Amino acid sequence: MRSEQVDGARAIAEQAMTAMARYDVPATPENYTIWYAYVAGSDPELVKALNVVISNHGTFTPERNAEIYERFFSRSRLDQTVQSTGEGLESAMTRVLRLLGDFDADQTAYGHKLAQMSGALEGGSTAETVQAVLRQLRQETRAILVKNQELEHRLARSKREIEQLRQNLESVRRDALTDPLTGIANRKQFDQRLREACAAALEDGGAVALVMVDIDHFKAFNDRFGHRVGDEVLKLVARHLRNQVKGRDTPARYGGEEFALILPSTTLAGAGVLAEQIRKSLAEHSLTSRKTDLRYGKVTLSLGIAVYQLGERLDDLLQRADRALYLAKDKGRNRVCTEADLPADAQAEVPAFTTAKLDRLET
Ligand code: GH3
Ligand code: MG
Ligand code: MG
Repeated sequence: MRSEQVDGARAIAEQAMTAMARYDVPATPENYTIWYAYVAGSDPELVKALNVVISNHGTFTPERNAEIYERFFSRSRLDQTVQSTGEGLESAMTRVLRLLGDFDADQTAYGHKLAQMSGALEGGSTAETVQAVLRQLRQETRAILVKNQELEHRLARSKREIEQLRQNLESVRRDALTDPLTGIANRKQFDQRLREACAAALEDGGAVALVMVDIDHFKAFNDRFGHRVGDEVLKLVARHLRNQVKGRDTPARYGGEEFALILPSTTLAGAGVLAEQIRKSLAEHSLTSRKTDLRYGKVTLSLGIAVYQLGERLDDLLQRADRALYLAKDKGRNRVCTEADLPADAQAEVPAFTTAKLDRLET
C-alpha cells in the first residue's frame, strides 16, 4: 500500500471511531466494519440507512447494529460460512475415506487369516490343530468385530458432523434472504423471486402482478413518535401484508419503508382487489401503544400495481409499478393506482409476439 493510501485509511478509521463514540456505538469488529464503510462512503445504501437513524435521533441499539450488519455485510458472512463449511466437509470426507480404506485393509487381512487357518486344517488335522485354529478364529473374529463397531461409531460421528454443517449453511442462507427487522423476504430474495416468477410466466404464459407499497408520511410518524415506534409500525405492516396474501405470493421489504408483493398467476384486476383490501383493512384501524395507551393514529399505505408483460425487462415492470405508486401519492395517498391509470406514454408496450399470439387466438 502506498503511504498516502495508508494515511487515507487511517483518517477514515479515526473518523469512524469518532462517529461511533459520538453515537454510543460499541467498538465491536462488526460495528467498526459498518462505520468504516459509512465514513468511506463505499455503499450509498448503507450511508442512507445510517443517516435515517441519525436524522431521526434514533439510538444504535445492539439489535439495530446487528440488523445493519446483517443487511449490508451478510453476503460476506455467507461467503465465510460457505468457505468454512467447505473446509469442514473436506476434512470430514477425508476422514470417511480414510476409515473406509482402513476397513478395506482390515477385511483383506481378515480374509488372509481365514485362508491361512483353512490351509492349516487341510490334509489331516489333529484335535490340537483344530482347537488352535478355533481359538485363533475366535480371536480374529472378535478383533474384527470390535474394529467394525468402532468404524460404525466413527462413521456415525462423521455423518452427524456433515449434517450439522449442512444445517449451518442452510440457516445462513435463510438469514441472508430475510429482512431481520420484519422477518419477511429482503430485497435480495425479492429480486430472486421476481425473476423466478417471471421466468415461470414466460414458460407457461401465466401472469405475474407486482404491487409496490409505501407507507404514507412515514417520516412525520418517525419524527413524532420516534424511530423505535417507527420500527414497530414496519413490523406491523409486514405482518399485515403476510396475513393478507396466500401461499405462492411473496411479501418483501423492498427498502426502508417500502414493501412489495409478488403475486404469481394474478391479473391486474385480481391484484387490484387484493391491494384495495390491504389498504382498507389497515386504514380502518387506529394504532395505540399497548404499553402506554398512547394513540398513534392511523397508518395508511399507497400502492401501485403493474403486471409482467411476457419478455419485457424486469426494470421496466418495476418502473411501471413505481410510477403507479407515485401516482397514488400524487392523488392524495391512502389509495391504489394501477398502470392502467398512467398516461398512455408510460404504459407497457405490448411486445410484438404477445400481440401475434392474441391475434391468432381471436381468429
Ligand atoms: P410519503 O408519503 O411521500 O411516502 O412520505 P414519507 O415520509 O413516508 O416518505 P420519505 O421518503 O420522505 O421518508 C421515508 C421515511 O422512512 C424516512 C425515514 O425516516 C423512514 N425510514 C426508512 N427506513 C426506516 C427504518 O428502518 N426504520 C424507521 N423507523 N424509519 C425508517
Ligand atoms: Mg413513504
Ligand atoms: Mg418511500
